[in-house]
Amino acid sequence: MENNKYCTKCGTKIEEGSMYCYNCGSSLKENTQQNTPQDNNQITNNDKEGDKLGLISLVLYFAGSGILSVLVSMFPPETRNYFSSLIGICPLASIIVMIIGRIKYPKNKLLKIAMWTIIICTLLGIIAFIVIIVLLYLACSSMIPEGGC
Ligand SMILES: [Zn+2]
Repeated sequence: MENNKYCTKCGTKIEEGSMYCYNCGSSLKENTQQNTPQDNNQITNNDKEGDKLGLISLVLYFAGSGILSVLVSMFPPETRNYFSSLIGICPLASIIVMIIGRIKYPKNKLLKIAMWTIIICTLLGIIAFIVIIVLLYLACSSMIPEGGC
């Protein structure tokens, strides 16, 4: 820990625990403003970290399965089954990354975009799935009017 603080007004070194600069008398509270650039850096870093998580989440959601499929095809056949199971985990991992990101960096825009994109795409996926099931059911029941499938 560095305790070397300097007065923002006159640059005099301020001793630990003192409330005022002994040279010019400016209050130490003003010295807390020295932390503002650091805080800004922190916010920028958080934004970058949040952006990273948002990107990872989106890439995992949309491209993860595709990338893994290509990778899996390069592995020897005996290990393919093991890696194939990972493909299905991609969207789930993406959602987990997004949720972690949202908790850590609630104000990050990219994570918000990732969240809504994932929610909308998942809902559309579920709706498409239901529509296909219903269409299959209708097609099936129309082909075999008596007895069903
Ligand atoms: Zn001073």
